Amino acid sequence: MQKRSFTINGESVTYYFAGCFSMLRTLADPAKTVLITDENVFRHHEKRFKGWNCIVLKAGEAYKTQETVNSIIEQLVELETDRSFTLVGIGGGVITDLTGYVASVYMRGLRFGFIPTTLLALVDASIGGKNGIDVGVYKNLVGIIRQPDFLLHDLIFLNTLPDAEWVNGFAEIIKHAAIKDAALFRELEANNLTYYRKKKKEACRLIERNVLLKTRVVLNDPTEKGDRKLLNFGHTLGHALENQYELSHGEAISIGMTYASRLSASLTGFRQADRVIALLDRYELPTYAEYDKERVFSVLKMDKKKSRDQIYFVLLEKLGKAVYRPLSFDHLYETL
Ligand code: NAD
Repeated sequence: MQKRSFTINGESVTYYFAGCFSMLRTLADPAKTVLITDENVFRHHEKRFKGWNCIVLKAGEAYKTQETVNSIIEQLVELETDRSFTLVGIGGGVITDLTGYVASVYMRGLRFGFIPTTLLALVDASIGGKNGIDVGVYKNLVGIIRQPDFLLHDLIFLNTLPDAEWVNGFAEIIKHAAIKDAALFRELEANNLTYYRKKKKEACRLIERNVLLKTRVVLNDPTEKGDRKLLNFGHTLGHALENQYELSHGEAISIGMTYASRLSASLTGFRQADRVIALLDRYELPTYAEYDKERVFSVLKMDKKKSRDQIYFVLLEKLGKAVYRPLSFDHLYETL
C-alpha cells in the first residue's frame, strides 16, 4: 500500500494506492458509516459488505438523478445518519458522483470517501471533487466541487469488471495521454487491453500514473478556471451524444475525441489525428457514430462550457499538448 496526501483548494484528500478493502475499518468506523454501492458491485462482492450499513442502488447512468438522490436521503434518515457519519461510495463513476453529491448536501455536508471499482472511476471520476447528477439529457447539469476525505484502491474489484467497462476506462486514459503525456501515449500504442488486463502490476502502475496526472491538473486549477478545462477533451460532443444515444461514457467521449482531433487538424494544424483515432481503435473504442445533427446541436447549446454564441472546445496542438479555444456555434454547426 502506498499513501499520498494532497490539499486541493484547502481540502485535504488522502489516496491509498494498492490497498485492500479491509483497510476501510481504519478509515471509517462501521457503526458511523454508510456504504453506497450498486446492485452489480454488491452482487459480486457481497461478502465484503457484511457488518456495514449499506445502501444498494440500481446500476447505471439512468439512475444518476435527483430521484435516486431523494431515495438515498430517505434511506439515510431511516439509518439515523447524522453529521458524525461518513458516506463511502463503492462503485463506478455513477456511484462516486452520487455519493459525493449526497454527502455534500445531506445535513449540509458529511465526511465521505470512495472505493472506485471501475477503471474509469479509478483513473477519473473519483478524482478532483466534481460530483453531480444528470437532469434529463443534460449530463452533470447539477453538482458541486468538494473533495472526498480519502480514496482507497483495491484492484481486486477489477476481477469482476465486464470487458466493456475496461474499454470504457481506456477512453479516459487515452484522453489523459493525448492532452498531457506524450510518453504515456507511446506506451499505450506499444501495448493493448489484454496486456494491461493480464499484467496486474502494469495495470496498477498505469492507474497510479493517471491518478497523479489528473490530480496535478486539479491541483493547479481546482475550480476549473484554466488547465482543468483541458480534461474536457472529447467531452463536449461526447456528452451531447451520451444520453441521447445510450452510448457508454467511454464510447461517447471516444467519438468526441475523434471529432475534436479532426477539428484540431483544421484549427490548430494538429498533425496526429490519425494516431489518436488508431489508438482509440486499438483499445476497441468506437470512432464513428451516426447522429441527428439538430438534436445534438440543441444539447450542445446547453453545454456548461458555452457563453452566448460561443462554445469552448478543447483541441490538440500536438500529442501531449491541448489548448482551450472558443468556437462560434455557427462554425460548430457547419463542422458537425
Ligand atoms: P458506472 O458507475 O455506471 O459503472 C459501469 C458499470 O459497471 C455499472 O453497470 C456498474 O454496476 C458496473 N460495475 C462497477 N464496478 C464493477 C465491478 N468491480 N465489477 C462488476 N461490475 C462493476 O459507470 P462508470 O463508467 O464507472 O462511470 C461513468 C460515470 O462517471 C458517468 O456518470 C460520468 O459522468 C461520471 N464521471 C464523473 C467524473 C467526475 O469528475 N466526477 C469524471 C468522469 C466520469
